[in-house]
Amino acid sequence: MEQMEIIDSVCTYCGVGCDIAANVKDNTIQSIFAHPDGVVSEGKLCIKGKYGFEFVNAPDRLRIPRIRKSFLAKNPKIHEAIALHVNELDETWCETTLDAATTAAAMKLTEIQAQYGQKSVCSIGGARTSCESSYLLQKFTRHTLNSPHVDNCARICHSPSLKGMRTTIGEGAATNPYNDIYQTEFMIVIGSNTTEAHPIISNRIVDMATKHDNLAVFDVREITLHRFAKYKGIIPHEANLLILNMMAYVIIAEELYDEDFLKDRTLGFDAFKEKILSDPFANPKYFENIVGYEHLSKLIPKVAREYALKKSMIFWGLGITEHIDGSYAVMAITHLSLMTGNIGKVGAGLMPLRGQNNVQGACDMGMLPYYAPDYQEPKEIGLMTPQLVEAMFEGRIKAVINMGEDLTHVHPNTNKVNAALNTLDFIFVQELFMTEIAKRADIVIGVKSAYEKTGVYVNAMRRLHLSQPLVKSDLPDDWEVIQMIENKLSGDYAYEDSKQIWDEVREVAHRRFSGASYNRLERHRVRGLQWPVHTEDTPVLHQLDFRTDDGYGRFHYHQYELRGMVQELSEKRLSGYHLTTGRTLAQYNNASQTSRCEKLNKRYDETVLLVNENDAADFSSEKVILKTQYGQSAPLVVKLTDKVQPKTLFCTFHHAKSKINNLFGDRCDELILTAAFKSIKVEVVNV
Ligand code: SF4
Repeated sequence: MEQMEIIDSVCTYCGVGCDIAANVKDNTIQSIFAHPDGVVSEGKLCIKGKYGFEFVNAPDRLRIPRIRKSFLAKNPKIHEAIALHVNELDETWCETTLDAATTAAAMKLTEIQAQYGQKSVCSIGGARTSCESSYLLQKFTRHTLNSPHVDNCARICHSPSLKGMRTTIGEGAATNPYNDIYQTEFMIVIGSNTTEAHPIISNRIVDMATKHDNLAVFDVREITLHRFAKYKGIIPHEANLLILNMMAYVIIAEELYDEDFLKDRTLGFDAFKEKILSDPFANPKYFENIVGYEHLSKLIPKVAREYALKKSMIFWGLGITEHIDGSYAVMAITHLSLMTGNIGKVGAGLMPLRGQNNVQGACDMGMLPYYAPDYQEPKEIGLMTPQLVEAMFEGRIKAVINMGEDLTHVHPNTNKVNAALNTLDFIFVQELFMTEIAKRADIVIGVKSAYEKTGVYVNAMRRLHLSQPLVKSDLPDDWEVIQMIENKLSGDYAYEDSKQIWDEVREVAHRRFSGASYNRLERHRVRGLQWPVHTEDTPVLHQLDFRTDDGYGRFHYHQYELRGMVQELSEKRLSGYHLTTGRTLAQYNNASQTSRCEKLNKRYDETVLLVNENDAADFSSEKVILKTQYGQSAPLVVKLTDKVQPKTLFCTFHHAKSKINNLFGDRCDELILTAAFKSIKVEVVNV
């Protein structure tokens, strides 16, 4: 029996990126606790960080590669090539070796590209794999397979933040470290249930709000942060851009902007000002006639004034981005910071709260159809995931490589995605468990989890953390699987470890990572380094110049368009139910890891539909089915509450069995195609 060992690493769950330490004995994690010196976790972890490690040894971990029997039957040459290594598992699957599985994958990809062309294959990565694996998957797809089609899970979360921020300030990333919350004078949280989704950041916000009464919160339902807010904004669905433009209107109308900052650091303010002042929706008085939301007509000016006159920060999450005007709303957020000079300073800035542990890193590595690593231009722009789905129907995409992403669960319009996948000749999946997409695959390869490997992760404040294994595993890392396939196609890769890949990243993506060697990241494991990392790292971005081509910040005005719930309210005809979805503290994304951890699953193992008490008469049974033209949910448990507004509903999306994402269609951000998960009109059927 081995001695207990304590190993430092980083939490595998959300984008906060907490520093953890684990008690490990006999190659098994015994417990996880906050690293005592952790600058992110500050001595605390949420329940996912603390109790979410049992999945590592879950009995149903994918340990042996699987190949679908029907795939072998349809591909006799492949079957013949690997026949010696194929053993029947059940009526659907055979087990095989890693070598045979990657041989089969290489043969099938070759055949498909010969028949349908090189661009008939695509890769979709998760945002929870390491930077090294994300980098290698996009390199393999772009250079070995010669297809431009790479995308990642950011498509359904923060792509509008990247788009909106790059358009206005040249960089799609948080501007400050979390600890600037202690330096700020005023905070706005909009479209983020921070307490559930980013709890350790929420700790800081609550702490400061309690001490200084300096918090404004806008959300469509009453969330925990409202309890600590000086300004409690409950807003209608799809009103973000409206409210943000109203704040800009107040700042302009009352001349609260920072003239020197505007002159020295920005372009286009005069045109923006003219447009805002003539915008029929920009005056907060608009809300005086919106029944149930009249309070906003007075609250918005108060928030705008305090924001403009103090050193302020704005925090947002998917409540901003997952709308058809998500990118425009992010631009509207950056406008506020540019007008008031609340950016490029300690304690003043913009904080998009990234969802997964490496969503920032996956984008930095070029796992996007329109950016190569380091946000350089790619040779050819590929298709975004919703476009890939359409291309599947058109027969232009015939194979998908899916690394740590669950296309058939976390994406919208699940029925349509499944129908599109039916048209494919080949689905290849690298995963920890038999997720929904793995169940659809032709070949599934079990890979190391974050707690079993070495790799770099970039958290929501651009902080790089070199994760080290807590336990040993014989499974391959994601990048090793890609390398094995590549070597059966071109034979160009000879990476011996993740460090060699990272050293290549530091050359290719030198503008952000040149100074971030493994050695240095190891030395600064607890402090972490924030990119760009050269001789020094960069805790606060945009201090001298914005990261646009000429260094100036830009205004890109977009007028709010009346629609949905706001339109119904303004025309006094609110009808039916408006659903929004989100996270709960105890589960994480598709719950493939958290649902295998007893303490977490005990807290939340069923999808609960929150309904306003005043709407109880419409919910005559304990469970209801929700329906839209795109599909229907499974029966959902109804819980009456005063925390959601009348005629609005809330539920989580974690459990595939709820079939919630069947309800959402193709409505998405106009610029960047992120699904509009945050509002849809649904029919309620009592069951
Ligand atoms: Fe892990 Fe996020 Fe919880 Fe921190 S806040 S412990 S990173 S899940």
